Formats: sequence, C-alpha cells, structure tokens
Amino acid sequence: MLRKIENISEYLKESGIKPSYQRIRIFEYLMHTKEHPTVDTIYRALVPEIPTLSKTTVYNTLNLFVENRIAYLISIEENEARYDADTSLHGHFKCVSCQKVFDFDVEADQLRYGGPEGSEVREKHVYYKGLCSGCNQVQ
Ligand SMILES: [Zn+2]
Ligand SMILES: [Zn+2]
Repeated sequence: MLRKIENISEYLKESGIKPSYQRIRIFEYLMHTKEHPTVDTIYRALVPEIPTLSKTTVYNTLNLFVENRIAYLISIEENEARYDADTSLHGHFKCVSCQKVFDFDVEADQLRYGGPEGSEVREKHVYYKGLCSGCNQVQ
C-alpha cells in the first residue's frame, strides 16, 4: 500500500525535487488515484484548476518523479505510458477490453530473483493482461 504522505512538499524535497506548486498538485493527483493515469488524463484533470499548466510540464514532472523513484512508469503497452505513485511491490493487470489497469498483490517471495550478478535492480514489474471480472462476465 501507498504510505501516507502528510506533507507532499516535504516529501518532494526529501526526494531531491524542488516542490513547485504544479509539481505538488501533480503528485497529489497521482497519489490519490488508483487509475494509473496517462499524461493526458492528468493534464485534463488539472488544467481547469491550473490554467498555466502544459502537457509538457506534466510529462517532465512525471519523468522527474520517475527519475527520483517516487513514481513508476508503467508501460504495459508500448504506445501508452501510465504512472503510479505507489512504488510498493504490486502487480498490474490490464484489461484488454475496458483498458483499465488494476493493482494486485504480489508476494515478495515470488520475486526473489535479485538480477544478474553485479547488477543493481531498481524496479521490478509484474504485468498481466486479460479480461477483468466485469468484462469477463459480459463475454
Ligand atoms: Zn475490463
Ligand atoms: Zn499500481
């Protein structure tokens, strides 16, 4: 589970990121959604409140989060980048019908492999694809 972040500004600072207003708002949005949003989704959600926001800013900010390891880039599909502020170990299931991405629990034991000798593993991803329970019933 995502840990509680009382003070996003402090959290960004601790993670080596200068906490501008836009960065704080983008992280806050990402932290509170389970939808694994794309750049577009985040932009459309925030631009009514922050008219000066641009897609480039959203994109660059998300990249900064990923570089500083407070967010993950989920690229189940090559042409679609989604972001996740939950950097704890969990798997992603993408429904090929409704296109939603769901979280599921992964046991750390199942991912024991530490990577090739001498390497430094920074992220582990588990991706599943299929039909979610809702879509599976309709079929
Ligand atoms: Zn579905
Ligand atoms: Zn997730």
